[in-house]
Amino acid sequence: MIVLKFGGTSLADAARVRAAAAIVAAQPAPRAVVVSAAGGVTNLLIEAARAAADPSQPPDSGGGPSLAAQIRDRHLAIAAGISDDAERAGALAELDQLHAALDDAFAEVAAARELSKRDADRIVATGEKALSVLLAATLRASGTPAAHLFADRVVATDDRFGNARPDRGRTRDQAEALVRPLLDAGLTVVLTGFIGGAPDGGTTTLGRGGSDYSATLLGAALDADEVQIWTDVPGVLSADPRTVPDARVIPVISYDEAQELAHFGAKVLHPRTIRPAVARDIPVRILSTFAPREPGTLVTRHAAGDAIKAVTAITGLVLLSIDVPELEDLAGAASAVFAHLSLDRVEIVHASQASSRRRMTYLVDGAATGSCAATVTKLEETLADFEADITCADDVAIVAAVGEGAASQPSALGRMLAVLDRAGIPVLASSQQASNVALVVAVPGRSAQRAVEVVHAAFVGSQPASARGRRPRRGAMLSESVRVG
Ligand code: ADP
Ligand code: ASP
Ligand code: MG
Repeated sequence: MIVLKFGGTSLADAARVRAAAAIVAAQPAPRAVVVSAAGGVTNLLIEAARAAADPSQPPDSGGGPSLAAQIRDRHLAIAAGISDDAERAGALAELDQLHAALDDAFAEVAAARELSKRDADRIVATGEKALSVLLAATLRASGTPAAHLFADRVVATDDRFGNARPDRGRTRDQAEALVRPLLDAGLTVVLTGFIGGAPDGGTTTLGRGGSDYSATLLGAALDADEVQIWTDVPGVLSADPRTVPDARVIPVISYDEAQELAHFGAKVLHPRTIRPAVARDIPVRILSTFAPREPGTLVTRHAAGDAIKAVTAITGLVLLSIDVPELEDLAGAASAVFAHLSLDRVEIVHASQASSRRRMTYLVDGAATGSCAATVTKLEETLADFEADITCADDVAIVAAVGEGAASQPSALGRMLAVLDRAGIPVLASSQQASNVALVVAVPGRSAQRAVEVVHAAFVGSQPASARGRRPRRGAMLSESVRVG
């Protein structure tokens, strides 16, 4: 049993949807498919929902087609590519219902003059729902028996709208009850990624980019033999190709390495994607819909090699440094800081502590904390009993070099710091992860791109021009990365 997930670029128009259907049909049954919205549609839906809530914005500002019309047109253009008349008519009828419900939702938001997270989730879910209808119809039109299912009935979550947490037990029960019988009947089941259902039945979402996570959640719930993430790059690369054009495909990485990469900003995988796969030891493959014969990247429990495999970065962070005068106060102050940040639901991307200097360092999501001045004032109140000295820097980036084995070598962090020093990039904080899977440094946001470039060049190296563009065949191993030390 295989789960295949397709991302937005891979479903952007009628031709891409047909290409995805061909990839699905080429895989052995039974198979479940998880779809994102067509590329750009989630952003359009969010923009339209915000505009609906804002009475100062006339609905059709700008003279062009309204946002709702642009969304509808994207879906209708994909429907127009369905080759079978009856299938096309059926899909159009279902799209009509989805678009009518969307118009109702916009009208309700406009009447309330505010956009609740619950309404936002109900609205954005339309993008995935429409694509599940369209891909299932495209599959049937080309002779593959298929059915679509909206995952708000399958993936059970809590009620944190916008960033819901799944309930794996209930998801398994619902997948057995709703998906399994369709698979047993010989159908390819096309499910919506990104969305789930709250205990009260409301539609939730799993956070931006969450369809990857849906794929492994459903893969675990259905005891899949493999989860395939079909995207627009030929696998997990040694760096974001937008920053490092000669980044190379990594043939095999471990679950730990993939989790660190996703956590530290590699957009190719939603940060929580790997966890459900680890629990049931399900291999995850990252493959390109633009080059479907390429081997891609296999994510598995163990991966050979002791090299740094990839370099990644997250920008837009805030760096908080907290010094406490008394060593015995360190634990109390740390727990007060964690409690404070968790109450405000601020994600801590990285935390470290140097006991000798009684200093704690936290890198947190800047969008969630707001300005440094406000953050420091709030933390000063929280830590009033400890006479803590708090400093804050915003527009900070984390650069992480990931590679099991390599990151634990004693010389590795020193070498990374030397590389950054030679490039004139100031390092604000650094640590060798307790997990031994990543070396992590904080640098000013403006230096992030350059830092990734120089660290990548030093640790992963650049491919000789002759080898560029040539990728290993499926099953081949590639681990010639430069060793650390
Ligand atoms: P999808 O719509 O298929 O989910 P995403 O846009 O979410 O695709 O993720 C794929 C993108 O992730 C790539 O186009 C690439 O720009 C970006 N990316 C960032 N870091 C990496 C990396 N290390 N390897 C591969 N892609 C990466
Ligand atoms: N369509 C959603 C988004 O744009 C989910 C996804 O792409 O995985 O965030
Ligand atoms: Mg994605």
